[in-house]
Amino acid sequence: MSPHEETTPLDPPDWEEFKALGRRIVDDMADYLAGIRDRPVWQPVPPDVQARLGTALPRTATPMQDVYEEFRTTVMPYPRGNIHPRFWGWANGSGVPVAAYADLLASVVNCTLGSGENAAMMVEHQVLEWLKEAMHWPADGSGILTSGASMGQIIALAAARRAKSGTADIRGLGALADGRQFTVYGSAQTHHSVEKAVELLGIGGQYFRQIPVDADFRIDTGALRRAVRADRDAGLHPLCLVGNAGTVNTGAVDPLDELLAIAREEDLWFHVDGAFGAFAQLLPTHRTLLAGMSEADSLVFDLHKWLYMPFDVSCVLVRRADALESTFSSSADYISSTDQGPAAYSLAFSDRGIEQSRRFRALKVWFALKTHGIESFAASIAGNIGQIAHLTKLADSSDRLEVVSRSDLNIVCFRYVWPGATADELNRVNRAVLTRLQVEGLAMPSHTVIDGKFVIRVANNNHRSERSDFDFLVEQVVAIGDELVAA
Ligand SMILES: *Cc1c(COP(=O)(O)O)cnc(C)c1O
Repeated sequence: MSPHEETTPLDPPDWEEFKALGRRIVDDMADYLAGIRDRPVWQPVPPDVQARLGTALPRTATPMQDVYEEFRTTVMPYPRGNIHPRFWGWANGSGVPVAAYADLLASVVNCTLGSGENAAMMVEHQVLEWLKEAMHWPADGSGILTSGASMGQIIALAAARRAKSGTADIRGLGALADGRQFTVYGSAQTHHSVEKAVELLGIGGQYFRQIPVDADFRIDTGALRRAVRADRDAGLHPLCLVGNAGTVNTGAVDPLDELLAIAREEDLWFHVDGAFGAFAQLLPTHRTLLAGMSEADSLVFDLHKWLYMPFDVSCVLVRRADALESTFSSSADYISSTDQGPAAYSLAFSDRGIEQSRRFRALKVWFALKTHGIESFAASIAGNIGQIAHLTKLADSSDRLEVVSRSDLNIVCFRYVWPGATADELNRVNRAVLTRLQVEGLAMPSHTVIDGKFVIRVANNNHRSERSDFDFLVEQVVAIGDELVAA
């Protein structure tokens, strides 16, 4: 009996044909990225393309060349936009090209990184060592790569609950161990993923205490101290304090060293959300701003934001070496280790987080860091900060623009203004300006609302942007605003 009578051949019947398609894909991909600047930042997905992406489950085979052709015409022309030099929306990174090769190779060796002796596990271990060094994290700390900071918050807050719940067996007893009601603190500008994590851990979203911020959107530490006292007096159990190294709205950095001191005084776990901002740690100019961050109990940062990795890859670091294992390790006969061979291991990432099967996301980081070196990334990050300072200066010097929030990092929020405008008119026109920029594919900032003002928000996690792109943005905002107001 031939093997093909037992299984359908899912490997290519002709590897030469497989190679030929691969060469074509690599050629097209390089041309696409090399010419990205000449494309619109974004364009709507036409109805016929949407229809082609809504067809039924394929029952039979299609030549892979045809499937690729379909990808080339339906998916490739209509991306989100973050690979373009004039994309500055939300907090999306631009994607370093060499990392795409690594992602391809990760699928070829197809390792799952739960545990075991294999080189992929060692690559993630090595990447974690490098990231600890880059973040000035203690060498005996621990960590894990995750899909994103949202996942990282859950892992870090679970470790916080394990360490600070006041019971030895929080894992067995559950969220309301011995009737304790836990509380978590962070500024009102904290990313919603923290509240989500608090909800998921069974603490209850209302017990994430959103502390007011000052005029620079930094947590009001006096209000924080009062909130912790009030909760203790009410018999609640304060667990964790979350500091922001770069808020998503405005790029504000909380006074992390002061928060660290409060956390130590109050016996709270100190967690820092440095989703994008933590990377400023690579710059000597920003160490003072981030003082206290590397002494936190846990830190999350997204490599797919300000380290320009393709989605998805993020990192959680913890200070205490066993903080993750004591929270997540579990035993089961079918995953226990052996004395030697592929199941002999001292390191199991499945014991440091939630997932058992895990993709080999470490490889793209390993590949990109080796290829470019950390200094190149630091230079890009410094460049992004300089570009935002340049944009801020342009907006400050224009009588048609008002800077609504500024930061020491990579975010500025501004709006188009004109004399005699009402608050409603300003919001309406700025919304329209942003829509024109986006829909016409000119540039892609996003928006937020600050003190009731609709603002154009520029968050620069883009290694492809040039200074002239920001000159262009300012020209366009003013031109579109003038046109809308004159009409
Ligand atoms: C993006 C972001 C998050 C969420 O991270 P994901 O990787 O999207 O899950 C959390 N906090 C801040 C400050 C962010 O910018």
